[in-house]
Amino acid sequence: MPITANDPNRKTWLPLNKDTDFPIQNIPFGVFLTRDDIITVGTRIGDFAIDLGALHQLGYFKGIELTDDIFLQDTLNDFISDGQKTWRLVRNRIADIFDEKNTALKDNTSHYDRVIFTMDEVEMQLPVQVGDYTDFYSSKEHATNVGSMFRDAENALMPNWLHIPVGYHGRSSSIIPSGINVRRPNGQTLPEGAENPTFGPSKLIDFELEMAFITTDANDLGEPIPVNQAEEYIFGLVLFNDWSARDIQKWEYVPLGPFLAKNFASTISPWIVTLDALQPFKVESPNPVKELLPYLKSNGKKSYDIHLEVFITPEKSTPTKVSSSNFKYMYWNMSQQLAHHTSNGCPVKSGDMMGSGTISGPTPDSYGSMLELSWNGQKPIKLNDGTERKFINDNDTVTFLGFCQNKNVRIGFGECSTKILPAL
Ligand code: MN
Repeated sequence: MPITANDPNRKTWLPLNKDTDFPIQNIPFGVFLTRDDIITVGTRIGDFAIDLGALHQLGYFKGIELTDDIFLQDTLNDFISDGQKTWRLVRNRIADIFDEKNTALKDNTSHYDRVIFTMDEVEMQLPVQVGDYTDFYSSKEHATNVGSMFRDAENALMPNWLHIPVGYHGRSSSIIPSGINVRRPNGQTLPEGAENPTFGPSKLIDFELEMAFITTDANDLGEPIPVNQAEEYIFGLVLFNDWSARDIQKWEYVPLGPFLAKNFASTISPWIVTLDALQPFKVESPNPVKELLPYLKSNGKKSYDIHLEVFITPEKSTPTKVSSSNFKYMYWNMSQQLAHHTSNGCPVKSGDMMGSGTISGPTPDSYGSMLELSWNGQKPIKLNDGTERKFINDNDTVTFLGFCQNKNVRIGFGECSTKILPAL
């Protein structure tokens, strides 16, 4: 089915800033609370939030097979379960409703007032109920940097790394939308040189610059997803800050891997940008260094050129950009991750979230964590206000931005922002 919503020549009758992350070619999906305290599934064009529940009740989706309450919900899980064909029909229809050539909604004041809100009138919620959350470790530069720091540069990558998209099962209960503050966690650490551990506030709070993809119901127990069909089961992506406590991590992770250092919070951008909207930005993945096993060999372009930025804003100060990276640096693409995840028959459900792992680029200004940017505290980062950071301080706000840009269109993710509060 053609994705007419992506037509780069289409213009909307809604007023837009020309550098918006949300032109009519984006049409992301999210969940928000309206000024009347009604929760609904919606989309966004420019700085307008659009109530899809109201649009559906008013008959604007006539001819598309949708249950009456599909958008009158507090999560997108059921809509995502409807599958790729329905997502495409709905995005194409939304594009038509807001096309400058079609002023039916624009000219109907009572409909307009029920459907369209400004962004400052709504409160964004978590867009899906995340059933299961998996985090990969798929940036070769990140894995190499961490391996060099904690083992040695010659053997930075573990022997499995070039053969397997390494990952672990995370916890979904602490995934939060952008804008929610997070308390510095308390935990057990072994101070440098000490014989016994102590319990208290983590001293090494770090962000991890990641993206996460959200799946639909993909497979039954026992049934793998072939690598070259995997994209059919990916609804879309969000920015993902996988908050980490490096000192807790260092002491606890042996031998079973990440635990309390990683599950106190992970922040996502609230609008899910569909994989369909990202089609103009497909690029080749890096060439595999080692011959891949057949189930991991993906054909054609399966990576995406998404520019990513990280800012730190101390209390009462201005933001400093500390990193510029790109999703295209990922060694393992989403198709390979999903094929690997299901290769043993593990079922994947609607609303499952898969983190990419920290996305570091080839140069020191493109590293995706403070651990790497400050090289484990050896090279502090200077901020605009003259202060320095090795890791994240109390009352610092960390903000991720992400967008794709070509000469026709900019498709962005908005922001993923969290303030760290002092420990309890
Ligand atoms: Mn992570």
